[in-house]
Amino acid sequence: MAERRATGAQDAKQYLPATSSVGSGDLLCPQRLRVLLPLPLSGAFSYSAPADLALAAGDLVRVPLGRREVVGVVWDGTLEEDGLPAEKLKPITAKLDLPPLTTAHRRFIDWVAGYSLAPPGAVLRMSLSSPGALAPPKPIRRVVQSGRPLPESLKLTSARRRLLTAAEDGFARSQAELARAAGVGVGVVKGLVEAGALDEVEVTPRLSTAVPNWRQEGPTLSPDQEAAARDLRAKIDDGFSVTLLDGVTGSGKTEVYFEAVAAALAAERQVLVLLPEIALSAQWLERFAARFGTPPVAWHSDLKSSQRQLTWRAVAEGQARVVVGARSALFLPYPELGLIVVDEEHEAAFKQEDGVIYHARDMAVVRAHLDSFPIVLASATPSLETTVNVESGKYSELRLPNRHGGAVLPQVELIDLRQDPPQRDPEIGTSWLSPPLLKALEETLQSGSQALLYLNRRGYAPLTLCRACGHRFECPSCTAWLVEHRFLGRLVCHHCGYSQRAPESCPACGEVEALTPIGPGVERLAEEVAARFPEARTRIMSSDSLQGPADAAELIRSIQAHELDIVIGTQLAAKGHHFPLLTLVGVIDADLGLKGGDLRAGERTYHLLHQVAGRAGRAERPGRVLIQTYDPDHPVMRALADGDRDRFVNLETEQRKAGGWPPFGRLAAIILSAPDQDTVERSARLLARSAPSLPGLRVLGPAEAPLAVLRGRHRRRFLIKARRDLPLQTILRHWVGGLELPNAVRLAVDVDPYSFW
Ligand code: ADP
Ligand code: ZN
Repeated sequence: MAERRATGAQDAKQYLPATSSVGSGDLLCPQRLRVLLPLPLSGAFSYSAPADLALAAGDLVRVPLGRREVVGVVWDGTLEEDGLPAEKLKPITAKLDLPPLTTAHRRFIDWVAGYSLAPPGAVLRMSLSSPGALAPPKPIRRVVQSGRPLPESLKLTSARRRLLTAAEDGFARSQAELARAAGVGVGVVKGLVEAGALDEVEVTPRLSTAVPNWRQEGPTLSPDQEAAARDLRAKIDDGFSVTLLDGVTGSGKTEVYFEAVAAALAAERQVLVLLPEIALSAQWLERFAARFGTPPVAWHSDLKSSQRQLTWRAVAEGQARVVVGARSALFLPYPELGLIVVDEEHEAAFKQEDGVIYHARDMAVVRAHLDSFPIVLASATPSLETTVNVESGKYSELRLPNRHGGAVLPQVELIDLRQDPPQRDPEIGTSWLSPPLLKALEETLQSGSQALLYLNRRGYAPLTLCRACGHRFECPSCTAWLVEHRFLGRLVCHHCGYSQRAPESCPACGEVEALTPIGPGVERLAEEVAARFPEARTRIMSSDSLQGPADAAELIRSIQAHELDIVIGTQLAAKGHHFPLLTLVGVIDADLGLKGGDLRAGERTYHLLHQVAGRAGRAERPGRVLIQTYDPDHPVMRALADGDRDRFVNLETEQRKAGGWPPFGRLAAIILSAPDQDTVERSARLLARSAPSLPGLRVLGPAEAPLAVLRGRHRRRFLIKARRDLPLQTILRHWVGGLELPNAVRLAVDVDPYSFW
């Protein structure tokens, strides 16, 4: 398993046939190769390739860098002149025993780097994301049957006999596994190893994965589903295509794209399914396992490093046939990728906001294009970008208009908070539940159904104010209020994680009992619910109340098992869970997401509320959704109430088109930050002075970012708005490429920005 080390020119001579006419001088003149290192450097470096290492583009190699050795990839284009004389080049030291990165993958890395203006090495680093994976896995010790006759002196107790029988299958197991299989103690295993009746061997660990069984029958599909599945099956192995699978929640999109997955497996291709929140998709994993007889290979940021290492290798070596992952799974080194599915394609979580800034859905389309295979985008509320691509004929579309099994879509009603405001209760205090919602809750509980109250705000209250002096609690390193988390007894910054004990008196005026929570968070809502419905079994579902995926799975199970009556949830509760007994969804503050007022605020709010609404009435019991709003005439609210998605989408489209906003125009943001305000201001002015001036391009800013200070860094933003036909990346590269900024200043370019803070 060892990597091939270069033997050096001296040793290389011995491989020459004795009669060779090649002079040693020729042999010693090494090939010049470009090697891309997984570091944020400007490009690939030149190295010399020792003649005894047969190297080709894509090979993983070890090279010297300063005093270190690092792993890099032989990159394309050997002959580029970098002015370094050949004898100055350092030699590649070894070739790793790993499959090469494919041509398509290398082109993908270059493409992403070019598009996002990130150094190619930074993109490569995402592909080699697991440094440990590159080293051969550490062998582990196992015991096996020795195969030799038993030593004559061996005393055969009944425990030993059982153990030897259990080992007869010849499998290599750990001592503990073997002991368990035979129902004996580990000491018995050790004894037999010492006596020479069992052998200890070293084996290379592998990810335990089975090939998903695509021959297994799926459910009988409805005619709509079958038509969609047929279309997708036909696209496997038929070159590049993008298909939007557009269907209401519960219409069977997952079942349909499982058919495409089966077809890709049958064609001996690897499959990647991108999900926005892998950590919370236990249900998805179970469904996959039920359909294909084995769970898929999961890739996400919570993997332990040993697991990451084995998984990376299993992907690179092609044992992992179906990978499900968050956005970073897109950069794994698949040798045989033949299908990508992006589920919930409209989700903003596909946008990576730091490091290399990219949109995983968009880059997945690029990956499919470069490697000529189909990609499926699934959503109940497709993004405007995707919708426009369908309309222009770039993408094709499959629709699943009905919920499976005749479940009807829930009835959506708006509660106008101007007419029906929540009533303050002398016992309970401030209320967040309007009378119609309270009544609906009562009815739901009486009928033995469940309710979800949706409020996308963690903690107890978003702001704490001193009634005596007006003091507000602000984060010391961000432009943000501290959010009270009453369970923790702390005030927390949701941007940087700073927290402090919730004080009893105002730190500004010293007044006791004057600190007042302003506005609701899920904890405060839970307090009201507990006071009003003391009998109801209630729980909060938010990232604070759950300690990881296992906890989330347990909560989901307990909702399904009707161990809870009311769930109070943030965005987490909106995701694709299936709760058959849930019939009422109450949206506490529908206007919350619209307040930011950025480009996609309306679209995002519509997506989220539509998704939350989709939690109601997923089975036989019809669902009801009550949306509390101060703005019932807002197009988003009208679209939800009337179930008229198309009208809303058309309206959004018209507005974006008229303003030249994406996807009809292009946007990029530049964010400058520095620990001190003066430095960042000066750099921003410098950048402004050299801003490009071109017809069809506008540079807005510099402006103080809405989050003017984040983690102690002062921030300034530029927004660049360009006509679609302008070469935005080239313009940006020329603009920022030539600048000399102080070291303390960080400059980030965000092409196609989704967040504007
Ligand atoms: P979506 O992905 O569109 O939200 P799902 O694929 O999750 O829809 O389907 C919703 C529910 O209906 C799931 O529990 C799924 O197993 C079930 N379902 C969908 N289609 C079928 C079918 N043809 N036969 C049996 N069950 C189905
Ligand atoms: Zn902060």
